[in-house]
Amino acid sequence: MLVRCDGTRSGYRLLCNGSVYQCVCGQTGCVQSKTATCSKQGFSVLGKCVACGAVGQHVLLAPEAVGFRRTLMQDPQTS
Ligand SMILES: [Zn+2]
Ligand SMILES: [Zn+2]
Repeated sequence: MLVRCDGTRSGYRLLCNGSVYQCVCGQTGCVQSKTATCSKQGFSVLGKCVACGAVGQHVLLAPEAVGFRRTLMQDPQTS
């Protein structure tokens, strides 16, 4: 699962590495302060989806956070 944006920042040719969000419409991408800043930008700084235009309907895609929580639930003293 894509967690960090692997798009390219326009003008810099650098890996974006931004947090990736998913819209209710299924659109995924990073949030950038200016439009077309990243090749895989999904949302404007206001949270507007580039695919469907919904505002504020995006959630952070962070599977690593789920894994972290699962690790915390294991009791370290039982081993
Ligand atoms: Zn990006
Ligand atoms: Zn959308």
